[in-house]
Amino acid sequence: MKYIFITGGVMSGLGKGITAASIGRILKNRGYGVTAVKIDPYLNIDAGTMNPAQHGEVFVLKDGGEVDLDLGNYERFLDIDLTSSHNITTGKVYRSVIDKERRGDYLGQTVQIIPHITDEIKEAIRIAAESDPGEGGPFEMCLVEVGGTVGDIESMPFLEAVRQMRGELPRSETVLVHVTLIPEDTMGDMKTKPTQHSVRNLRELGLNADIIVGRSGMPIGAHTKKKISAFCDLPERAVISAATAPDTYKVPLELEKEGLADVLTEHLGLAHRDASDEWYQIVSREYTSRIKVGIVSKYGIEDVYLSIKEALKHAGRSLATEVSIIWLDAEKFEPHHLDDCDGVLVPGGFGIRGIEGKIAAIHAARTKGIPFLGLCLGFQMAVAEYARDLLGIPDATSKEFGEGTHVITILPEQEGVTDLGGTMRLGEYPITVRKGTLAWALYGREQISERHRHRYEVDPDYIPQLEAAGLVFSGTWNNRMEICEIPGHPFFLATQFHPEFRSRPTRPAPPFLGFVDACRKQRKGV
Ligand code: GLN
Repeated sequence: MKYIFITGGVMSGLGKGITAASIGRILKNRGYGVTAVKIDPYLNIDAGTMNPAQHGEVFVLKDGGEVDLDLGNYERFLDIDLTSSHNITTGKVYRSVIDKERRGDYLGQTVQIIPHITDEIKEAIRIAAESDPGEGGPFEMCLVEVGGTVGDIESMPFLEAVRQMRGELPRSETVLVHVTLIPEDTMGDMKTKPTQHSVRNLRELGLNADIIVGRSGMPIGAHTKKKISAFCDLPERAVISAATAPDTYKVPLELEKEGLADVLTEHLGLAHRDASDEWYQIVSREYTSRIKVGIVSKYGIEDVYLSIKEALKHAGRSLATEVSIIWLDAEKFEPHHLDDCDGVLVPGGFGIRGIEGKIAAIHAARTKGIPFLGLCLGFQMAVAEYARDLLGIPDATSKEFGEGTHVITILPEQEGVTDLGGTMRLGEYPITVRKGTLAWALYGREQISERHRHRYEVDPDYIPQLEAAGLVFSGTWNNRMEICEIPGHPFFLATQFHPEFRSRPTRPAPPFLGFVDACRKQRKGV
């Protein structure tokens, strides 16, 4: 197993995750099996209880791991399925070491950051790298992205573990890529000083960058590369320009042009290989039509819905349709806000804020024949809206929101759950798709598996009435309703699960494909 360590310099928010995923992609384009580990130096065990408005979306893995959104980027770019073990946090590492200490595993020793925490980190990296998460394997290389910025107190033990691994493994088994910022001064000149400082910080920790990826607004010229090369002791061709790309999926193409693949593989003692152009073909497809999708949400922050944005892009790209998103504030929603939209999407969420706006948007979509896709909370509110209007239950709602008639109720196994971390119905579960339905047309098979993250579900007592009133539950698992749809509507489909988490540029999620296609047809008046 070869390790590609990725560290960040100067500041966070440089797109280190996308750079790392893109590095993985250019290696995968050469036929290497690439997996990834993300290190998050916070004390939380996982991202499950973190506010998405601060940290971006909580991404859900196949095994139910609630993780940092970068893991989603790795899955999308590398077309692999990761597991919770691929997201290492300070919380997980310390918990494990403290558990071992209590068990007596270190009997007689003083338990310390070095070597106990660093050993634990190295072990966690190896276990994740070598575990076989199924499709996409076997793996020959593992990207290890160290979150945060070099110099942060939190990331010190992780960087020390990286230093030790670099020392223990043969030279050709590891490479260190440092992603840094190259800002421009007021005259438009590119400044290398922040990079010099962060490389010095790295050196103080005993780490030398083999490759520097400079993030900048404009491509980095030869003069700047020369300067970085001289100050940071690496060849000019190991200084890679990564100017902000119009589309993140095109970052691998930019890195290709810079010759990064050859520099990387040389470090890893591998012979030159030509790249396949499958990725290039997919991400460079020209658009022939354009649609606007309204997303009704309570957060104005786009990173909260990253996977939804990406899933729309994947579906759009494969249908040669450019999807632009109109963010609609659920709390201020009025039906005329949909006038400019070809379709409406109600995403997942928690809490009562904005609920009435979401229901109003679903009502408008249903009654005016506007294509609609509801996800998780969007599914639950589609059922509530239907019950309000067609079952004559004006106060139909979810038990999550207190007063009202609870057509959406708590999952039986969730009753009495008090811990909030990692206790929802999480991860992939099977679903049976009913033949002859829209869901069937989209998935084309009876047994599917999709990712979940919820505590509530359709109350089984209301299913017969809802169905008698025309709502079709086209995806189910025993008594659990997973997909609903309305026959005769141009496109009205909602899912209790989150199809966006399994969507890839190479394999768009079926509900998104159907939705984008319906929006496109609606627009064209086909
Ligand atoms: N809050 C709802 C539930 O827990 C929906 C969750 C979601 O949209 N992810 O069931």
